[in-house]
Amino acid sequence: MDKKNIDWSNLGFGYIETEKRFVSNYKNGAWDEGVLTEDSKVVISECAGVLQYAQTVFEGLKAYTTEDGKVVCFRPDLNASRFADSASRLEMPVFPEDRFVEAVVETVKANIDYVPPYGSGATLYLRPYMFGSNPVIGVKPAEEYQFRIFCTPVGPYFKGGAKPITIKVSDFDRAAPHGTGHIKAGLNYAMSLHAIVTAHKEGFDENMYLDAATRTKVEETGGANFLFVTKDGKVVTPKSDSILPSITRRSLMTVAKDILGLEVEERTVYFEEVKDFAECGLCGTAAVISPVGKIYDHGNEICFPSGMEEMGPVTKKLYDTLTGIQMGRLEAPKGWIKEIQ
Ligand SMILES: *Cc1c(COP(=O)(O)O)cnc(C)c1O
Repeated sequence: MDKKNIDWSNLGFGYIETEKRFVSNYKNGAWDEGVLTEDSKVVISECAGVLQYAQTVFEGLKAYTTEDGKVVCFRPDLNASRFADSASRLEMPVFPEDRFVEAVVETVKANIDYVPPYGSGATLYLRPYMFGSNPVIGVKPAEEYQFRIFCTPVGPYFKGGAKPITIKVSDFDRAAPHGTGHIKAGLNYAMSLHAIVTAHKEGFDENMYLDAATRTKVEETGGANFLFVTKDGKVVTPKSDSILPSITRRSLMTVAKDILGLEVEERTVYFEEVKDFAECGLCGTAAVISPVGKIYDHGNEICFPSGMEEMGPVTKKLYDTLTGIQMGRLEAPKGWIKEIQ
């Protein structure tokens, strides 16, 4: 087979149906072995647990082509273990972590012609997810579940360079203390939609959420963790039990410490100290790092010295190093790159 005839560099971030997806069902207390199918439709009861009480969790990762032509994924074992944590928190059965990684590999292999070529900036985005599928009307966990992975080719996140964005301090909260902010669940996104639509209407790219209890500490945005750089070059990231543990952020902290030899701190970050940082970025699978140039807080603006034209120097070094590792231009720490073929 041949690569699909797709204009890779002009792809956006949207859903394009590919040929195969992986499906496994959980029934009578056990997962079946799972199959690859061409059927992209999900057929479930009108009363399915997911439709009534939002019992669903998901993951997001990418497959892409490295400089030497290998197709790889980045740390899918961490997606597998985070997926298990998310499922447990919503009283869903865990999909075994080794089988999660195998299913990722199978899904990519089955759609290999949709993996964009090296240098295009595009990637094959994978979306593993699971939901309660049997009828549930009294509030309780479902008894049957479906696990699926589909994939869709997506374009380069930054077309024509990574321009810093402007974010606002949100008046809404993302996650409650002792709530579900640390798991990757659709419910955290459903309730963030009003906040992001509001921010966009006001001309901002993203929301910065503060801790719900005191509104004094930095948490994250709707879908990315924060990294800050101090004026003396230290890399700082907020620590909180209600932040989603981003794999990109964890990897960047390792890169900062072990490869770039920078000082790193994962600690409570008060909003009060944000004005003193030199650089700010948002980390997640989609963009790796999106630089933040400006934060708007109820009439006050925090403008980072790195400005609105380009990434700050430390952010850039982190970005170049991690993307270099991902694309096979730099040696990866052991276990970070999972080869597909
Ligand atoms: C997925 C997600 C992230 C980013 O995590 P990565 O593993 O780096 O993709 C950050 N915050 C939230 C709320 C998320 O859902």
